[in-house]
Amino acid sequence: MEDQVTARLTEMLGAGAVLTSGTDQARYLSDWRDRHRGTARCVVMPKTTQEVASVLRLCGELGVPVFPQGGNTSVCGGSVPSEDGRGIVLSLERMNRVRDVNARNNSMIVEAGCVLAAVQEAARAAERYFPLSLGAEGSCQIGGNIATNAGGTSVVRYGNTRDLVLGLEAVLPDGRIWNGLRTLRKDNSGYDLKNLFIGSEGTLAVVTAAALKLFPLAPTTLTSFFALNDVEQAVALGEKLQKQFPGELVALEMMSRSELEIVLRHIPGSHCPLGEKGQWQLLVELTSSAPPAALTEQLNACVEDAMTEGIVLDAVVAANEKQREKLWHLRHSVTEANKREGMGLTHDIAVPVYRIPDFIERAGAMLQRDFPGVEVVVVGHIGDGNLHYIGMLTHEAWRNTADKPACQLRLAHALYDIAIAMGGTFSAEHGIGSLHLDEMRRYKDPVELDLMQQVKQLLDPRGIMNPGRVLPPRAQ
Ligand SMILES: Cc1cc2nc3c(=O)[nH]c(=O)nc-3n(C[C@H](O)[C@H](O)[C@H](O)COP(=O)(O)OP(=O)(O)OC[C@H]3O[C@@H](n4cnc5c(N)ncnc54)[C@H](O)[C@@H]3O)c2cc1C
Repeated sequence: MEDQVTARLTEMLGAGAVLTSGTDQARYLSDWRDRHRGTARCVVMPKTTQEVASVLRLCGELGVPVFPQGGNTSVCGGSVPSEDGRGIVLSLERMNRVRDVNARNNSMIVEAGCVLAAVQEAARAAERYFPLSLGAEGSCQIGGNIATNAGGTSVVRYGNTRDLVLGLEAVLPDGRIWNGLRTLRKDNSGYDLKNLFIGSEGTLAVVTAAALKLFPLAPTTLTSFFALNDVEQAVALGEKLQKQFPGELVALEMMSRSELEIVLRHIPGSHCPLGEKGQWQLLVELTSSAPPAALTEQLNACVEDAMTEGIVLDAVVAANEKQREKLWHLRHSVTEANKREGMGLTHDIAVPVYRIPDFIERAGAMLQRDFPGVEVVVVGHIGDGNLHYIGMLTHEAWRNTADKPACQLRLAHALYDIAIAMGGTFSAEHGIGSLHLDEMRRYKDPVELDLMQQVKQLLDPRGIMNPGRVLPPRAQ
């Protein structure tokens, strides 16, 4: 029998906007990697900000938990509902209009459910560039990117999502609509509320639209791939490139040989242009308003220099768009390839860039000593000091692992302890979700955590917004 909440929501939004059957709901109830699952009364798919407001008002009155969902590509369990089935999933997928693109102002206004690739495309159609880019861009939504303050591959030049948002429209848990869709570069008129909602992972409000920063399209893009012997060399090359190309360096992506081999094994058509050279690989992208020949000449001189200094083993520069796509395909396929390889225990750490070699060495020694048989696989946005440090087990080894959660936690805490001791973090870009509540308790400054709890209490006193995410329950 249909429950009362679902009946009221159906009355409000129409039957086509409320999914109730198990089959219809299935893809909203487990995440992309199928590691987190939940259940819900129903999945609602409002089409307008007013409809989102009506849904939240009703859920607020009845105390029904609301789990906002974008593209459901979160890797830390933030986007699926809880297991008790008391809540509803609020999917933004039907709020996918580009409301405005203003090339003269270098800004655009889009609804939260726009898929990231569509946002990039709409900017390009107006001869502008929206720099946020990540492996999930064909599925993740701009609302999800904002809610998680996503990083991705161009942070080294353009910053995180936070740095690309000029204004927001959001619906508060009591159903009020906040219209903060300003497109100004400067606005010091009081507290900057948008930054409170960015990165709040659906625990404070539902983002319904955003004003985004655009940039001129650069006519020249150069993508290159480097083979290196060790991580010190990768960091040294990164520093050299940053010094020589301060305005042009957009991406600095590192991969261990073990990661590259996994991609080559599982992704059809993948190919390493430098064969078996190097224990570490670096993918570098430069963009510039200079003509291609001038930038290529400058890059070639830099590569020759780095080879003479013994930093680089070998390098290749993509000669055309097809070769460029193939290089990026290697990088963007890592998550899919790792999923096929086995059970990857992924840790999204960051340390100051110059500490990366030290982290890799200490973490590797710890794994060898305490977790023999676990393969080290590393992929990272090295220009930001952000590593996805993965302990890889075969599917069989994982099946045979006794007490999986305890083993996972022991490994995670051992790695996080190393990162934190270096002034790092246990969550660089993926967020907290339901996965890192223990770490919030263990590593966050108690004053910071208390302030976060107070903000949550102020904005969401009934605790209906994405409960059980980001903030651990307060000790009684
Ligand atoms: C192949 C792959 C590669 C990835 N690469 C990167 C990467 O390089 N960098 C990176 O940072 N992340 C990466 N991710 C993780 C993920 O793609 C990002 O976290 C992304 O920003 C999530 O967007 P989404 O629309 O899928 O959000 P979801 O997964 O649907 O939701 C994520 C969180 O945001 C909340 N939320 C979603 N929409 C809204 C909204 N409109 N209002 C309020 N709250 C909302 C949800 O409740 C949840 O807490 C990757 C994931 C995959 C699968």
